[in-house]
Amino acid sequence: MQTMSKCRLPGRLAILLTLACALGAAQAQAREPEAAGEGVQVGKMSSLRNLVPQEQLEASAAQQYTAMKQQAQQQNALMPDSHPQVRRLRAIADKLVPHAVRWNPHAAEWKWEINLIASKDVNAFCMPGGKIAFYTGLLDGLQLTDDEAAIVMGHEIAHALREHGRERAAKSGLANAGAKLAGIGLAAILGIDANLTTAATGLGANLTMLKFSRDDESEADVVGLDIAARAGYDPRAGVALWQKMGKSSQNAPPQWLSSHPAGQNRIVEMRKQLPAVMPLYARTKGVPQKSLPPYRSNVKDIAPIS
Ligand SMILES: [Zn+2]
Repeated sequence: MQTMSKCRLPGRLAILLTLACALGAAQAQAREPEAAGEGVQVGKMSSLRNLVPQEQLEASAAQQYTAMKQQAQQQNALMPDSHPQVRRLRAIADKLVPHAVRWNPHAAEWKWEINLIASKDVNAFCMPGGKIAFYTGLLDGLQLTDDEAAIVMGHEIAHALREHGRERAAKSGLANAGAKLAGIGLAAILGIDANLTTAATGLGANLTMLKFSRDDESEADVVGLDIAARAGYDPRAGVALWQKMGKSSQNAPPQWLSSHPAGQNRIVEMRKQLPAVMPLYARTKGVPQKSLPPYRSNVKDIAPIS
């Protein structure tokens, strides 16, 4: 737990905060018309998740999120609504959220929230029910462009939409998850994305928390790219994002390598999805795909991505 010491927030809250993403008051909208086979393809959600009542899980997540915000505020770590970076994140969320409901009809009722937490942790999360947080260590530390922030947000939203936390809860035998979550704070169930944290900082390596599985991570990458592309964000930014992650992790402790060797694989897998998502991006931008220029990040050592 000493690895959390960089975070200003103590104990369990710090863990909860580690991967939160935040959302504005965007409203989910009706499903858009879709050509058959358009976009990415993923399998069915596990029916095991039905063992855990959705309302209970979302209510518990909302409670934890409120507690997190309160504690962050006490630490002067909750960035105000007027902060430019908060406004930027909420503007991105406003574009992404309308594309959430195609992945999960319940999302139409979610009360989305997005907040920014001052913390060195490289982290973002979306809890069940659409409660998102970003950490400044990710947004500012990696100098995320709008496209890259949208890829992260899409990934975190995808965990919630695909109900990965609920599935984890069911597989852990937490049928009465709502009653137990408050006491133990199992991270992945609440949408805390330990994998992302670990990837960039090594922070997650010592945490005795339930993580999303590698399959969940891959699925969140794929679905997140689809959501971001439909919202008009360049999916190739996902490649740049993980290149930045890789560079930022070069000073991470050795356990990072053993616990998280997947960064390069994620880039390979994301590239495989580009043929499915680039047409969506081009359509939203209103231009022919072949006329799109390469994606350019904002740091010199990441080459343009075509
Ligand atoms: Zn994840």
